[in-house]
Amino acid sequence: MPDWASKPTRWMQLTLVEDDPAHFDPGFWLSYFKRTSTEGVCLSGGGCVAYYPTEIPFHHRSAWLGGRDVLGEMITGCRQLGMSVLVRTDPHATYDDTQAAHPDWIAVDADGKPRRHWASPEMWVTCAYGPYNFEFMTAVHREIMSRYRADGIFLNRWDGNGVCYCVHCKENFKTATGFDLPRATSNEDPARRAWMLWRQQRLMSLLDLWNAEIRKINPEASMIPNNGGGALNPLDTRETSRRSPMLVADRQARRGLAAPWLMGKTAKEFRATMGTKPVIGLFGVGLEEPYRWKDSVTSNAEIRIWVLDAIANGMRPWCSKFSATLHDERWLNGVEELYQWTEKNRHYLNHQQPLARVGMVFSQQTAWYYGDEHAQSKVEDHALGWYQALIESRIPFEMIHDQLLDPAHLANFKTLILPNVAALSDAQCEQLRAFVRGGGSLIATYETTLYDEQGKRRTNFGLGDLFGVDFAGKGESPMLNSYIRLEHEALPHHAMFTGLEDAPRIINGVSRLNVTPREAFAEVPFTLIPSYPDLPMEKVYPRVAKTDISCLYLSEPAGRVAYFPFDIDRTFWEVLCADHLKVLRNTVLWANNEAPVVEVDGPGLLDVTVWRNPGSITIHLVNLTNPMAMKGPYRTFFPVGPHTIRLTLPSDLNPIHARLLVAETDVDFSRSGSVLTVRVPSILDHEVVAIEL
Ligand SMILES: [Zn+2]
Repeated sequence: MPDWASKPTRWMQLTLVEDDPAHFDPGFWLSYFKRTSTEGVCLSGGGCVAYYPTEIPFHHRSAWLGGRDVLGEMITGCRQLGMSVLVRTDPHATYDDTQAAHPDWIAVDADGKPRRHWASPEMWVTCAYGPYNFEFMTAVHREIMSRYRADGIFLNRWDGNGVCYCVHCKENFKTATGFDLPRATSNEDPARRAWMLWRQQRLMSLLDLWNAEIRKINPEASMIPNNGGGALNPLDTRETSRRSPMLVADRQARRGLAAPWLMGKTAKEFRATMGTKPVIGLFGVGLEEPYRWKDSVTSNAEIRIWVLDAIANGMRPWCSKFSATLHDERWLNGVEELYQWTEKNRHYLNHQQPLARVGMVFSQQTAWYYGDEHAQSKVEDHALGWYQALIESRIPFEMIHDQLLDPAHLANFKTLILPNVAALSDAQCEQLRAFVRGGGSLIATYETTLYDEQGKRRTNFGLGDLFGVDFAGKGESPMLNSYIRLEHEALPHHAMFTGLEDAPRIINGVSRLNVTPREAFAEVPFTLIPSYPDLPMEKVYPRVAKTDISCLYLSEPAGRVAYFPFDIDRTFWEVLCADHLKVLRNTVLWANNEAPVVEVDGPGLLDVTVWRNPGSITIHLVNLTNPMAMKGPYRTFFPVGPHTIRLTLPSDLNPIHARLLVAETDVDFSRSGSVLTVRVPSILDHEVVAIEL
């Protein structure tokens, strides 16, 4: 991996607006980069506005550029500070003169009309899949690389805006697939499905072309495509990961109901395909929501919790600022403080290997083909439920890409969670079977493996043998006023009942499948209390007190297997019932069946991650405790503590001393066998326990 990508632990992105060259002070920014020990920078270069004297026709120079080379001036200054330099381009919009000369460069809507830009109506939206990108932007990237020999080019909005009906797309798509361009928005339409794959191939060949061209000039350089990540990402993240020495996860701010651990989740998803290559967390300093206040500044507490959770989950921070002329300077000191802390502790933030033993599988193909237009509720909400439950349970875990279920990628895990991972191939099912045969444990919910990798319904579960059940048809959905009976009499003190000792019944989920057990299960802790009327109130009484229909199938074919034939995870995300949390947590502890990596006793909502680094183990404790936690507008922090931390040491390690990196104090630790115990008196926003080896 090139040094320019591996070295920087902090990045800053300065996105110039067109009139910046007339107003902004490069010296101010260079001194801020220095003050914050920022090691990598991303500077606006070209695409929709060029900030240097470009020679390429239709490459629009900033109207305020005059005779200057603003990009060159900034690059020279950053190089003097020893920084890695990426140049940002944005190809998604252009002007009337371009449209007049090259009408075929412009995106076309379904009615055959060229597309005006939705936010800047004097501009045009370009076609991402045709000559505008393949020819014009290739020339731009070559010119930038020749002039500045940048370390790489950061691509913003390079991947198009939905289906384009231009002459090139029509012809190229037809030639490649035999289909006319799709009109439908569902992937059930074969043309739509073909377009999705064609788009991916087209964009990956574009990346390959740009990489090849810039590497003729600078062999170490790389295109860095801006990217969303996660199951809902329409581009296969393995493909972008394979092509990049580092990736930038663009998650600038909360939006709607966004849990405070969202940046950490993004980090885990990117690391799933990037491995140990740097994953950079792009954060903003403002509020976005759908109203796009690009020049806003939010509270320091909100910025901090967002970034601290990213760092705890292995991201390197990248502060993204639009407009070099500042309309509001309130964020400057907060980011400086954060960056200085990471510089001071850089030795401990060189995260090498997470020690988590639990992995949650996410599946882009399940989102694309099974979830389709309803991927948020049918796919992502199941994962969010587990995510919240694992955070509340303080169980360190990783995200695992469903295309990487081979033994090497699963080697460090004891338990895999499949949150309604519905669409898996026979080969993927076989990989999971092998994992369980080798002693690994598996937890699955609802329609997991009931569909193949194309989203086609199977007649039975792909993993029915592991679950011990056969599919017997859709049950009920939505299921109102239904409950789960806890079989305390049959199974006193069962592991599933921890924290539920006094609960005779708990609420059910919302959607359920009918399944037939292949043979009688030894332990049936939960049985169904079917729906009964919820109105009129006089009629609200259970018609059946008890059934023998199980709500959880527990078995131990080699490793342990737990299968819920209903949507407990999605329901938990929607309703956040404490009883469901206990069931989810008990299931993970039952499945994992070994000493936990770490246990944290004490109050609060904490994101807990554990890392092996060169010369140390670090335990990150991010204090998410806040009345605003589930939407994220943190005003201030509420200290929690004390906490007792028990870490199960990997057998070959010998701790020398322990230090709290935020409190800046050494702490005593005690050791009993392989368990090391440390006490943390109080956590304001975060604490990092560093165990020196
Ligand atoms: Zn097109």
